[in-house]
Amino acid sequence: MRWLQALAAAAALSLGSMGWLARDLNEPSPSSRREPSLIEMVQALGTPPADLDPQPEPLGGPRLAPPPTNPWRSPLKRACGPSDPKLAARLRQLLANLPSKAERQAIDPSNFGQRYRRDAYGQPVDPTPRVVVMHETVYGIQSAINTFTTAHANDDDQVSYHALIGEQGQVVLLMDPLQRAFGAGNSAFNGHWVITNPKIGGSVNNFALHVSLETPIDGEDDDPGHSGYKQAQYDALAVLLAQWMGRFPIPFDQITTHRAVDLGGERADPRSFDWSQLQRRLHSLGLLC
Ligand SMILES: [Zn+2]
Repeated sequence: MRWLQALAAAAALSLGSMGWLARDLNEPSPSSRREPSLIEMVQALGTPPADLDPQPEPLGGPRLAPPPTNPWRSPLKRACGPSDPKLAARLRQLLANLPSKAERQAIDPSNFGQRYRRDAYGQPVDPTPRVVVMHETVYGIQSAINTFTTAHANDDDQVSYHALIGEQGQVVLLMDPLQRAFGAGNSAFNGHWVITNPKIGGSVNNFALHVSLETPIDGEDDDPGHSGYKQAQYDALAVLLAQWMGRFPIPFDQITTHRAVDLGGERADPRSFDWSQLQRRLHSLGLLC
């Protein structure tokens, strides 16, 4: 779909040209301007930032592999035929408007990091985002934002997603997709994880993008389900996924859930997610063909 690629490219470009909040925060004030470091010069050339977090001495011994789990079977099905033209027009418009309509919220630097090019064993790993993990907020969107804007000293408390989707379909972008969100703890996708912090174990975070849907008010508990997400949320989710899929090598069957990647067996989110709603929308955007 050429129009989609063009739209996604335009969206990515305008996001870049608007400057990124997190990057702005790291820039020196005019009074403290200095010569750029080599890392900053390389970043200015467009190389994804990586390896900027301090890494401990490489671990010895062979790389630890994740425990065997069931392979991910995507509920999304390949679909190339005609789709709902009204839905396609609405989503195309939302995609074109995403760069100007999305809200941007800077979060505390303790809650996210850079993607690594080497794991804790010193072995090279590919930091390219290639899996999307979906979550839900359980409590309201503002509660999630308050958590992410609060500094957390302990590894266990540090948490973030790349984006939130509110009940009205508003998209809140929290960090550059090239940065590493702390969206999942001990986790793996189809037998892949990366160990960057031996204290936490392997995780998908180094190659994942994380998006969280605002839970409806009747879901503020640990029941197995709730009344589900709004049509506007599925619209916004499909459009955000379209942008990410246009920018990174993310096939539709690598859109998954926290529940599926979690190795602790404690995560059930996003509960009450209706895959048929996402199927219709990604089909109409030409992303399932
Ligand atoms: Zn989650």
